[in-house]
Amino acid sequence: MRVGAIIVAAGHGVRAGGDTPKQFRPLAGRPVLGWSVRAFEAAGVSEIVVATEPDHGSYLRSLDVPNLRVVRGGATRTASVRAALAAIEQAEVILIHDAARPGLDPSIIDALLGELECGAIAVAPVLAVADTLVRVDDRGVVVAEIARGGAVRVQTPQAFDAAKLRHAYGATPDDIAFSDDLAVMRAAGFEARIIAGSPRLMKITYPGDHEMLEQMLSPQRMVAVGHGFDAHRFGEGDHVTLCGVIIPHNKGLRGHSDADAGWHALVDAILGALGEGDIGAHFPPSDPQWKGANSELFLRHARQLSERADARIAHVDVTLICERPKIGPHREAMRARTAGVLGLPLSRVSVKATTTEGMGFAGREEGLAAQATATLARIVT
Ligand code: MG
Repeated sequence: MRVGAIIVAAGHGVRAGGDTPKQFRPLAGRPVLGWSVRAFEAAGVSEIVVATEPDHGSYLRSLDVPNLRVVRGGATRTASVRAALAAIEQAEVILIHDAARPGLDPSIIDALLGELECGAIAVAPVLAVADTLVRVDDRGVVVAEIARGGAVRVQTPQAFDAAKLRHAYGATPDDIAFSDDLAVMRAAGFEARIIAGSPRLMKITYPGDHEMLEQMLSPQRMVAVGHGFDAHRFGEGDHVTLCGVIIPHNKGLRGHSDADAGWHALVDAILGALGEGDIGAHFPPSDPQWKGANSELFLRHARQLSERADARIAHVDVTLICERPKIGPHREAMRARTAGVLGLPLSRVSVKATTTEGMGFAGREEGLAAQATATLARIVT
């Protein structure tokens, strides 16, 4: 079954507020219209035609959808749909959708197409009416109760047998205003059916609607805490590198890279919060290219991985465990270096130090250790 879609995007959307027409305003990472285009693509719709104003060309180009066809919308909704219908070439089924309903889920499209496969000619998603309905006059006085029995709220996309839809539009003059295409079909004598709609399909109409949809369509986040630990043995040398800061010392740290235990623990903490294994898996010690490597490279890699996963590093906390060198004088420099590499404000980076009061390998100054936690806001998948 070849499916085409028409998106009616001709309005200027003044009621919803803002300078940009409501169908092109950014919403949770993409323009409002882009959400519907993506849903149609995900559902396998082969032709997508947008009916819009001629001066909306720059907004449409920003959508960056190669297969999108654009037609000039008419003075009425009926005229806009007629123009778009002429641009659809091969579809046996046509979906007609309002651009200002970005919360379109492919499952709605599947349900609509399922009804058509079962013999329906015109189908729309609907919601029950929960509130009492009354009629008011222009003074704000209630003048009549409206019976709610059998009433539903009609949404889009509406799905049609393409041949019957063309027939209905052929029989409909442009000067009669229809509020949707179900009405056009019924006026031409065709039966219209319904499926269950979705609250997410709400139409952006009034101020506040945009913000409500932004919340509905934004990805949900969860807090993920990762933990890391690292230790390096002391050897010959005249300095150690900890959290990116070079500290003069009568020993050096042995390791394949620069042996920055603080940042190694931190990298493992970030990887842990991302579920991305450990530092050894990303930078194998057996690989000669990491010999003597600056650990800033590893920390930048961890930051990139988190950005790629659209995770936000909320806070990091590193604890260095050693008798000497004394960390206190270098702590603020370590915080600043770490904050710089991770692109975080200083207030979200903590570096602490402790000794083990002479006990264990750190106490005997055979080496030093570091622990770290990283708190990330991750998208729930
Ligand atoms: Mg290490």
